[in-house]
Amino acid sequence: MTSDRPTGASRGLAASLLTALLLACTALLGTGAPARAETAGTGATATAIAEALATNPVYVDPSYAAAVNPTQQQALVDQISATGLPINVVLVPLKKGDAFDGDPRALAAVLKERLDRQHLILITNDAYGKWLTGTEWPTDAHQTRDAASAVGFLDELDDAGLAARVGKAVELIEAGNGTEVYEAETARIDKEYSARPEVKEDASGGGSGLLLAVIAVLALAVVGAAFLVRRRSPRHTAFTFPDAVFAAEQAADEAGLRRQAAAEILALGEAVELADSAATPGLSRALDAYDAAGRVLDAAQGLPDLVGVLALTAEGRSALAPAPTLPLCFFDPRHGTAVRRTTWRPLGRREQADIAVCEDCGRALRARRSPQVLAVRDQGRTVPYFEVPAERSLWAATGYGSLLSGPDDTLAARVGAGEFSRARQQSEDHGAAKG
Ligand SMILES: [Zn+2]
Repeated sequence: MTSDRPTGASRGLAASLLTALLLACTALLGTGAPARAETAGTGATATAIAEALATNPVYVDPSYAAAVNPTQQQALVDQISATGLPINVVLVPLKKGDAFDGDPRALAAVLKERLDRQHLILITNDAYGKWLTGTEWPTDAHQTRDAASAVGFLDELDDAGLAARVGKAVELIEAGNGTEVYEAETARIDKEYSARPEVKEDASGGGSGLLLAVIAVLALAVVGAAFLVRRRSPRHTAFTFPDAVFAAEQAADEAGLRRQAAAEILALGEAVELADSAATPGLSRALDAYDAAGRVLDAAQGLPDLVGVLALTAEGRSALAPAPTLPLCFFDPRHGTAVRRTTWRPLGRREQADIAVCEDCGRALRARRSPQVLAVRDQGRTVPYFEVPAERSLWAATGYGSLLSGPDDTLAARVGAGEFSRARQQSEDHGAAKG
């Protein structure tokens, strides 16, 4: 079927690998991870974060200092103190392939162990940036999990910064009604999404094949050792993947990403509605992106398609902006909007590609390291999405926007021309021939 659907053999293999992973992780968490294996995005170790939390319930990584400035940090400290609850906030950059494999719950679990407190409520950001994750021990008595998740869906916070989002999460945790708010908001999104104009009702079962594994977490040890393959050759970059890592990652990510994608579409729809048509030359382009994003989401069969929805909504937002912005990061659009374009030569290819990259991926390329890439299943292997033959993947053909040929060549136009469906058909034919 899709490139994500595992074969029976790979499922068995993945299961055994996952068992090994789980054992490794249990050992790691149980005995205390070595310092180098617990480094978060910009280098703070879990131990250092835990030490900081001993005196201040709000830990903000320097890279988030602009989003949550000292005044806002202090306001959060005061707000938390007034609740009388054991709330800690940890805002650190998380990325696939870091010590926590970009998983806020893995970070939370390690911090809980370091802090060694019986009662703890932890709010962290997730890898995508806009969303918060809440975890509470010993039980979820204050509905922390839903409270933190709900924040990402609240309309009132659409344009709010990280500090306001965290403040809202604290407020919901204090009120203890996070589940009610979460259910109301997600129901609203589902309803608004299905009621939005021009929805094509060809939604498929949607990626149940991805449910290969349920362990969200960590591949700490394996990832640290095996994820980043460093090659000597200075001219190109190679990628290898422990399959089980990606299977688990994709299964865990898909459900959340599907809702996030729907929320992004709705937000784009609202931005289109609010745009001044006389002053927004890109308006029709934004509408095309909105329409295409909805079509892709309705037919999405896995993580790569859901990521495509993010790329399409980014394209729509760029069309509304006074000046066009770069597309999302070529290597994994979940890294966010690219900050620069660069040339890069894939392994085994002669020609260089001109791609847009995020800060981290740009840095990795300059240091001759492999960036963290979005991986997919194709022909029974896990490969970078861009190595899938272009005729079977619109995303490989376009690099989620990076490889488009000019101003009139857009993801939305490609979807509109049927390329998404055709690629899907090719992929399905291929799967059927194999199966
Ligand atoms: Zn990137």
